[in-house]
Amino acid sequence: MKIFNTLTRRKEEFVPLEPGKVKMYVCGPTVYNFIHIGNARPMIIFDTVRRYFEYKGYEVNYVSNFTDVDDKIIKKANEEGVDPSVISERYIAECKKDMAALNVKPATTHPQATKEIGGMLDMIQTLIDKGHAYVAEDGTVYFRTKSFKEYGKLSHKNIDELQSGFREIKVTGEEGKEDPNDFVLWKPKKEGEPYWESPWCKGRPGWHIECSVMSKRYLGDQIDIHAGGEDLIFPHHENEIAQSECANDKTFANYWMHNGFLNIDNVKMSKSLGNFFTVREITEKYDPQVLRFFMLSAHYRGPLNFSADLMQASKNGLDRILNGVEKLCDLEKKVEAKGMSQEEEAKVAEAKNQIQKFEAAMEDDFNTADAITAIFELVRLSNSTANEAASKEYVTYLKETIEKLCDVLGIITEKKEEVLDEEIEALIQARQQARKEKNFALADEIRGRLSDMGIILEDTREGVKWKRA
Ligand SMILES: [Zn+2]
Repeated sequence: MKIFNTLTRRKEEFVPLEPGKVKMYVCGPTVYNFIHIGNARPMIIFDTVRRYFEYKGYEVNYVSNFTDVDDKIIKKANEEGVDPSVISERYIAECKKDMAALNVKPATTHPQATKEIGGMLDMIQTLIDKGHAYVAEDGTVYFRTKSFKEYGKLSHKNIDELQSGFREIKVTGEEGKEDPNDFVLWKPKKEGEPYWESPWCKGRPGWHIECSVMSKRYLGDQIDIHAGGEDLIFPHHENEIAQSECANDKTFANYWMHNGFLNIDNVKMSKSLGNFFTVREITEKYDPQVLRFFMLSAHYRGPLNFSADLMQASKNGLDRILNGVEKLCDLEKKVEAKGMSQEEEAKVAEAKNQIQKFEAAMEDDFNTADAITAIFELVRLSNSTANEAASKEYVTYLKETIEKLCDVLGIITEKKEEVLDEEIEALIQARQQARKEKNFALADEIRGRLSDMGIILEDTREGVKWKRA
């Protein structure tokens, strides 16, 4: 299996630290709002990487964090007049709903920064003791980048170039730094912010230290794969390497994987441009599976352009596969229970050839676009050869093969059970009752259940209206 490693800038054969096991860390979102479709891309991509390893029989320990202390969370909490944890817990719950809708498996562990402060204090102290970090007069702790000779190895930046770049920018409040490249490990509290006690000052951690600490705690000093969006290469991942390798004296991660940007109609997604979409907005218009399928239709390392046309094309492609499987399910009930004919056996050889193509594509740095092509070929084979005269053994083989490969991509081929109107209306009534009793948690939960069933609610003056997505 070959993986493109950002560290070496080439495809390398994957060799796990421990045979049959993969230790993987994927940087997760900062939870201050609903996740946007740019957040969904790494979730879907690296979930698919995980699924492929599992398909190949590896045991995957998959860790993905939630950054739950951050300026944006604090700002939102102050706006709403609540504790920052109210904001972060709310959006962690919402993020998990979106992940479930996109069929992203829960991580083995989903650590949260605010619950790992002790480990951060320990690692920062270790870095100070070893001369890799220092305390400024105001109690800020900085990482001493000059102390790590390999600083810049991931982003392939030259430390002197970085310095000349920084000289142009005057950063206020950072006068205590020895060097412009040095970054914050711990910073003093400001008015109205959450803080923790530390040997240096009352304060809170910098962003980078959390991943080094959580990776160490849940996966050990060394891991196989560290992954995230390409915008994290510098400075976040560069700084994680510096912290972890200086604290642990070991190579941090053997393979660094990064997914490309997501553009909207060929323009970078941004709130100020108004081309910003949350996963929730998109999945109200499309089946979440269409979004997942769309994300997998291009190579993960390249930029991906999101547009209504491309989503429609993905929907058509996905429908072709789902209809193919549905036809096989129907046939399975009708055809004669007998063994395969010679002709069918020859077709099975063709199918096996497609399985090989699927695996070869996935093993070439997770080329999901080519893997999807192999599934299309299987559907084509099935549509042209499976009919009422076929043997049950043949029909079942095709169905199970397509289903198995779809499952590697996280595509669910089973048809959702038809939900009855009465069932929906009973749930809506229960939600109204909960709201009347001011049990908003229950009301929200019911709304979530309805949304999982593909039901969209609209509160109007005439009461609650609903429609199927
Ligand atoms: Zn991270």
